Amino acid sequence: MTVRVRIAPSPTGNLHIGTARTAVFNWLFARHHGGEFILRIEDTDSERSRPEYTENILEGLRWLGLNWDDGPFFQTKRLELYKQAVQTLFDKGLAYRCYTTAEELEALREAQKARNEAPRYDNRHRNLTPEQEAAYKAEGRNFVIRFKIEDEREIVWNDLVRGKMVWRGSDLGGDMVIARAAADGIGLPLYNFAVVVDDMDMQMTHVIRGEDHIANTAKQILLYEAFGAKVPEFAHTPLILNQEGRKLSKRDGVTSISDFKRMGFTAEGLANYMTLLGWSAPDSTQEIFTLEEAAKQFSFERVNKAGAKFDWAKLDWINSQYIHSMPVDKLTDLLIPFWEEAGYQFTGGRERPWIEQLVTLIGPSLTRLVDAVAMSKLFFTETVEFSDEASAQLKQEGSSATLKGVIAALENHQLTEASAQEIIKQVVKEQNVKKGLVMKALRSGLTGDLHGPDLIQSWLLLNQIGLDKPRLLQAVEVAS
Ligand code: GLU
Repeated sequence: MTVRVRIAPSPTGNLHIGTARTAVFNWLFARHHGGEFILRIEDTDSERSRPEYTENILEGLRWLGLNWDDGPFFQTKRLELYKQAVQTLFDKGLAYRCYTTAEELEALREAQKARNEAPRYDNRHRNLTPEQEAAYKAEGRNFVIRFKIEDEREIVWNDLVRGKMVWRGSDLGGDMVIARAAADGIGLPLYNFAVVVDDMDMQMTHVIRGEDHIANTAKQILLYEAFGAKVPEFAHTPLILNQEGRKLSKRDGVTSISDFKRMGFTAEGLANYMTLLGWSAPDSTQEIFTLEEAAKQFSFERVNKAGAKFDWAKLDWINSQYIHSMPVDKLTDLLIPFWEEAGYQFTGGRERPWIEQLVTLIGPSLTRLVDAVAMSKLFFTETVEFSDEASAQLKQEGSSATLKGVIAALENHQLTEASAQEIIKQVVKEQNVKKGLVMKALRSGLTGDLHGPDLIQSWLLLNQIGLDKPRLLQAVEVAS
C-alpha cells in the first residue's frame, strides 16, 4: 500500500500557520513512507473563497519547501462527482430532501434551548410521503439534502495521535446536511460530504488534520460506511496555542505564513520550527534539522496530544541558526528585498561585492532577516544620527582632536585593514591619548553609536562608498 495523504486548505484566507503545520506533518509522513502528498483546494464556499488566497496558499507551501506530488485539485471543478455521490446515497435510501425552513429550524433550536438540550435537527422530514413532498414543493419551499444518522450508532476509530476515539450517533446533531438544492436538483456539497467523496476518489490512506476536525471525523466515517468504502486512518494533530494557552489567533500578531515571511523568518527556519510544534525527534535534544532529515525520523508515536505552545524565543533561535550558517550569496539574496522595502538605494558604490561584505559583517548578528534594516541603516544614509551615548562620547575631551587627526591621516592613506590599524596607532601617538578613546570616538563618529558590528570592517565599508570622511566631519561638528 502506498501512503497517500493530502492537505486540503480552504481559500478563505491566507495560508494559516495551523494549516501549514498540518501540511508539514502530512509532508513528513508521506516522505517518511515514500508516499504521495496531494494538494486539494476546498473552494466550495463561494462567498468566502478568493483566488488571491489560493495564490497565497500555493506560494506559502512552495516557499516552505512542501512540494506536492499531485494537484492542486479544486473542488469547484469536481461538482459532477459530488452530485453522483449524492445520487448514490438517494438510491441506497440513505439520503433525503428536507424542506424545513430557516424559521422552523430556529424555532426548533429555541425550544431545545428552553429545555436545556443541545441543538439538533429532529429528523422531521426523514420519511415524507411523496404527497407531503409535493405539497412542500408547491408551497415554493427550498430543500437541503440530508444524510441519515442513527442515534444508536457507535462510531469508533483508533486515532494515530489520540488513541481510541468513541462517538455516539446521538452526539452528531441529527441527520446531517450534505448538499444544497439547485435549480436542476443537487447543488453545492457541504464540507463533510465533499471531503469524504474526494478522499475516497483520491484514495487517501491517512487523513492527518487539526484536532478541531474530530467531530467531523465521526460523521465522515458514517459516510465512508454508507458508500461501502474503506475508512482511512485518522491522525488529529494538536492545536497551536499562544502563551496564555489559547488557540493562536490574529490577536497574537501573526497567523499567516506570509506574515512570518515579512517578519524576517527564513523558510528553512520556520519549517524546522513547525516540525517541533507538537512533534519531537527520538533524540529530543535534536532541534535543528531540514524537512528531509525530520522526515526520516517522523512518526505519530512522537506527536503530542496536548496543544503545542507557540514559542517565539525558540523560533527566533532556530531562525538565527539558519541565518548564521547560510552562504553569503544566499543570505544577500534574502536580505535585498528587505532593504528595498525599506527604501534603501543600491547606488554610489553599493554594488554586489560591497553588499556581500556588508552581509558578512552583519550576518552573524541577525536573528531575523528584517533586523538587517536597522542594523545597516548607517550604510545607506548620507548623514548619521548620533545616539545620546555617542554624542556624549564625542564631547569628551580629546575626541575632537582625535577625529581631526584621523581625517588628516586619511589624506595620506588608501584605507585597508592594515592602514586603518596604522592610522589608529599614529593618532594614539600624536594625540597622546589612550587607544580606547580613539576607538570610541571613531565608532561614535562613523556609526553614530557606541555599539555595533566590527569597527574596522564598518569603516572599510563606509570608506568604499565615500562616507567615512563626511561622517567624521559631521562628528567633529558635534564634538566641538
Ligand atoms: N478544508 C478543511 C480545512 O481547511 C480541510 C480539513 C480536512 O483536512 O479534512 O480545515
